[in-house]
Amino acid sequence: MDVHPAPENHGIVFERIDLHGPQSARCIKVGVDALIEANLCTKLGNAHGATVSTVEHLMAALAGCGIHNARIVLNGPEVPILDGSARPFVAAFVDAGMKRQGAPLMAIRLRRPVEIRMGDAWARLEPADQLSIAFEIDFPDAAIGRQHLELELCNGTFVRELSDCRTFCRQADVDFMRANGLALGGSYENAVVVSGEDVLSPGGLRRANEPVRHKMLDAMGDLAVAGAPILGRYVGHRAGHTLTGRLVRALMADPRAFDWVVIDAEQAHAMPGAGVCHADLAITA
Ligand SMILES: [Zn+2]
Repeated sequence: MDVHPAPENHGIVFERIDLHGPQSARCIKVGVDALIEANLCTKLGNAHGATVSTVEHLMAALAGCGIHNARIVLNGPEVPILDGSARPFVAAFVDAGMKRQGAPLMAIRLRRPVEIRMGDAWARLEPADQLSIAFEIDFPDAAIGRQHLELELCNGTFVRELSDCRTFCRQADVDFMRANGLALGGSYENAVVVSGEDVLSPGGLRRANEPVRHKMLDAMGDLAVAGAPILGRYVGHRAGHTLTGRLVRALMADPRAFDWVVIDAEQAHAMPGAGVCHADLAITA
């Protein structure tokens, strides 16, 4: 996978170079219309049937670095999972350097709350001046248990606080998937595996509450599927990709729920990617 610069107003576009046919059939532009419901990951597709899976950590890295225009060239149907966090993507972007573009940045500002519920899980977006993410999880495994955290995602907070937090799963789920012939990733290299009160992955957790931080990272990536930065407060309770995806879809389907606003120079300083630099990454090393 290669991530290339793109001109102003291009948006984030995936291109599947392993597929045949005209370029339009191989390209998937990030936006709520491209969202396809999938289990356990965030998947996008176009009208020609081209899809790309597991985009969430890359989308979070792009949003967290303030990258709004990029062409992502892939030779397969899935974004590499790497270490299960967004850190390798962020490190690559910071190493390559990022350039300010001239076109004004448009953002989606909540006008009223939008909420989706599925059983005892729910996700909500409500009006706020900038993006913040609050999340609560509650797992039976004592190694995870109940965790809650809220952060304002401005000025590199994503890079410093969330980008290195890895996907996690329960050994019981890995066993179940293997028993059902699913060769899902679940290796110790790209996910934190827990069982009861034990963290089975070598080296343990990167942060005491790494799991809830990863859920916030996922939410950041799923919100970015809207295709523009969101100014609002996201609250997730045991939410996952399906729920947050439906929330973004519900938001964008209701013109009374949001306004398109131009980010001025003052607001730009408080956006998630403002001022991201090597020093932010050093904190996660
Ligand atoms: Zn994830």
